[in-house]
Amino acid sequence: MNYQFTCPQCGYDRHIEEIMEGAHLCSKVSSIYPEGGVGDEIETTETEWQDGALDRYQCSNCGFEIAKTTEDLISWLKEHGMLVKLKNFEVQIKGEVTKTIKVEAVDEETAIERAHELFTVNCENPNEEKYDQETINTKEV
Ligand SMILES: [Zn+2]
Repeated sequence: MNYQFTCPQCGYDRHIEEIMEGAHLCSKVSSIYPEGGVGDEIETTETEWQDGALDRYQCSNCGFEIAKTTEDLISWLKEHGMLVKLKNFEVQIKGEVTKTIKVEAVDEETAIERAHELFTVNCENPNEEKYDQETINTKEV
């Protein structure tokens, strides 16, 4: 979220709700059961909202009306210092992962080799994802 909203009416830090009016919920009628029996007589799928116009922006907690238009909402947030600039961060995480991988191989050496390959199979870019690998134990099962 790139805004921080503290409601002047209720004082809570909540998100802003966009209220639309005149919107229709449209569905495709997939089945009709004239005798009932399945519960509903009409079964629908692919439900989606259509049309509708912006009515207002409000506090999600108490319904305090902030603005009627997007433009007014932005100026209101700016005025109250509630628009915050997002910064970019790069977070590097070091973790320890232990996996037991079952492989088919002719001997132990090949088994270890194949298991290590499988261990890193999802690393497309080794700069982004890197695992320190160490064989802890090998046994024939
Ligand atoms: Zn409120």
